[in-house]
Amino acid sequence: MVNKEKKKALVLLSGGLDSTLAVKLIVDQGLDAEAVHFSTPFCNCDKCSVEKVGKDNGIKVHHLFQGQDFLNLLVDPPHGYGSNMNICIDCRIDMFKKAKLFAEEIGAEYFVTGEVVGQRPFSQRKAAMKLIEKEAGLEGKILRPLSAKLLEETDVEKDGIVDREALLGIQGRTRKPQIALAEELGVYDYPCPSGGCLLTDAQFSKKLRDYLDHEGTPNIPDMFLLRLGRHFRINGVKVVIGRDEKENRILTGLALRNGWAVLTVLDYMGPTTVFPELSEQVLDQAAAITVRYSDAPKETPVRLCLKHGESKELISKAMLVEEIENYRI
Ligand code: SF4
Repeated sequence: MVNKEKKKALVLLSGGLDSTLAVKLIVDQGLDAEAVHFSTPFCNCDKCSVEKVGKDNGIKVHHLFQGQDFLNLLVDPPHGYGSNMNICIDCRIDMFKKAKLFAEEIGAEYFVTGEVVGQRPFSQRKAAMKLIEKEAGLEGKILRPLSAKLLEETDVEKDGIVDREALLGIQGRTRKPQIALAEELGVYDYPCPSGGCLLTDAQFSKKLRDYLDHEGTPNIPDMFLLRLGRHFRINGVKVVIGRDEKENRILTGLALRNGWAVLTVLDYMGPTTVFPELSEQVLDQAAAITVRYSDAPKETPVRLCLKHGESKELISKAMLVEEIENYRI
């Protein structure tokens, strides 16, 4: 028998299919809910799709940012990295701790997620889920409607506030049950499930690993720079080269704001190269790589301009493609 006492749920909403279905299952039980969407400096998330889920289900969506605390965890994550630089277990603990504080502000008493047992080998194993709950101080308070029947009863199920019978027992990596459920519930518009966290991307993870090895604790502006351009390390010095016009413009703006040196090819179209810390020892290689990515002829010397306070002209030929790989991060 379902207890009609209302308790507000705080749904952790990523905007993907699973958390969208979790919202729907809760709202369809007539339960009171608000949602929170977390983002980090590594998200490629689509805030509009999150807002749409809230609107479609008549619930308010809040946005919280995992900032410097989260970046500090990346240096030496207590629960380790996943297959790339993703620190999902520590990330989830941090997220739930922040959600817990936020829930107190809005009077929410339990939490709902779209997690599915066994869907992610690192953070969605039963043991990892229990550990995350315990470390966040939320044992018995996190309801996972898609897998609830495979998990211990939560407090709100025991109290009859949520009807366990109406919850599901989905597990594993296949998404077929969720896609079938989406059709059944009339959820047609959801983003691709591959998600948008750059920490799960192998190429980005290489850049972040290099950063941690050479530059130490990350900060938000540096993480923004990691998302832009081609990155090289020459004699220990970081060099960033724009990949298109938009990146060239952003890199030029960052260089102006931060007093970085900027290198460009004269006489031909080419990329913008910036040096967060300029060293004379890297100029020859950086100039040769910059010419390689420009429209200038590859066999003849080309003029470049280095601006760092004053302007200085350099001459360089394009670096061989194979040689470039020695410097690429
Ligand atoms: S994929 Fe990224 S955002 Fe998602 S839990 Fe892992 S570290 Fe956090």
